[in-house]
Amino acid sequence: MASLQSLRGMVDLLPERTPLWQHLEATAREHFRRAAIAEIRTPLLEATELFARGIGEATDVVGKEMYSFTDRGERSCTLRPEGTASVVRAVIQHGLLSQGPQRLWYGGPMFRYERPQAGRQRQFHQIGVELLGVADPTSDAEAIAIAWDLLADLGVGGLQLELNSLGTPEDRQRYRAELVSWLQAHHDQLDADSQQRISANPLRVLDSKNPDTQALLAGAPSLADALAGESHERFARVRQALEALGIPFVLNPRLVRGLDYYGHTAFEITSNQLGAQATVCGGGRYDGLVEQLGGPPTAAVGWAIGLERLVLLLSQGEAAVAGPAPDLYVISRGEAAERLALVLSRQGRQAGLVVERDASGAAFGKQFKRADRSGAAWAAVVGDREAAEAVALLKDLRGEAPERRLPLAELVACLIQANSG
Ligand code: ATP
Ligand code: MG
Repeated sequence: MASLQSLRGMVDLLPERTPLWQHLEATAREHFRRAAIAEIRTPLLEATELFARGIGEATDVVGKEMYSFTDRGERSCTLRPEGTASVVRAVIQHGLLSQGPQRLWYGGPMFRYERPQAGRQRQFHQIGVELLGVADPTSDAEAIAIAWDLLADLGVGGLQLELNSLGTPEDRQRYRAELVSWLQAHHDQLDADSQQRISANPLRVLDSKNPDTQALLAGAPSLADALAGESHERFARVRQALEALGIPFVLNPRLVRGLDYYGHTAFEITSNQLGAQATVCGGGRYDGLVEQLGGPPTAAVGWAIGLERLVLLLSQGEAAVAGPAPDLYVISRGEAAERLALVLSRQGRQAGLVVERDASGAAFGKQFKRADRSGAAWAAVVGDREAAEAVALLKDLRGEAPERRLPLAELVACLIQANSG
């Protein structure tokens, strides 16, 4: 029988890697705590309609990337491809906005049926921030600063903040008409994907990864020229706020995000060390989404960081994060000794020590080798003789302390003292 494998694009995170993930998750949580942002957890599975209505039917995500199926109750369900729509649904469903602006973060797996490659998976992980009920341009800059400072604190280098304004729906409608006629005039020079997008979602053509199309687009009408005066002013205030914070940015007039709900500020944080999948964080303002999903008109801004790409960046920098070494490694051999070792291990853990017990029953020499490799500071050894007397030998694996023969409770107390000293 063929051995079972994980599905394509679904990746196991092995124990060697989890300490780095835990480190970045803990760092993110600390940044959110300092910014008074509370965590929200929503289901992985939602009604398909939520994403169709929220993200936009004509986006790649809804059009061809969703994991959707009909459940046993004949409902169309979808594994969440992103976090914002679910957060907005939950905020509306529970009336949270009646309590004032909401500062929320979420984290966890997202699912998109894409072609897997470095930095692109079918199950991937995001952490994201959503500030709901805030309309002022300084909030756009505040959201960006939270992402920027988190990435900086994690030690990610070579980052660039790219910024654009998508204006109001009216601005975009005006621009769309201009762009479509320009695209139609250049139809034959466009790649096939872009040709298809002219009618479905013309702004997405700007985001084409095809180099020929990108070169051609240098001559296309610019969204910036289509913005109304007020949109320009608003964008200027976002830039001033970023300048006040000392966060550098470059303007990218062709930056459009892959989700239809964005307007005004759109941004990406990219790294030159990520190859084709350069964007580690993407976000922007989505003032229309809450209302579109049935809630009260609510201004909002947010972003999401892709954790796999962040991990790629961190591992390039050799940011090795090791799991905790045990305080005590417990070695035993023989039936009674193993029982006593089990009791000792539990007592140590109850007292707050990190205890690893060797349950192999292997020769003492082999167990000692493993104790050494574990990085533990101390080993406790229980053989037949110790078991008969209910004691264990305490050995200093890293220092010069003489070996001691101690009853279990004393051994634990001794280590607690050594740890606090
Ligand atoms: P891309 O243009 O790379 O497909 P996107 O615009 O679809 O990105 P968003 O929906 O804005 O991405 O998601 C925010 C972040 O989540 C991205 O910047 C990226 O870091 C990460 N991300 C998105 N899709 C994937 C994926 N399939 N695998 C891994 N990370 C992803
Ligand atoms: Mg995408």
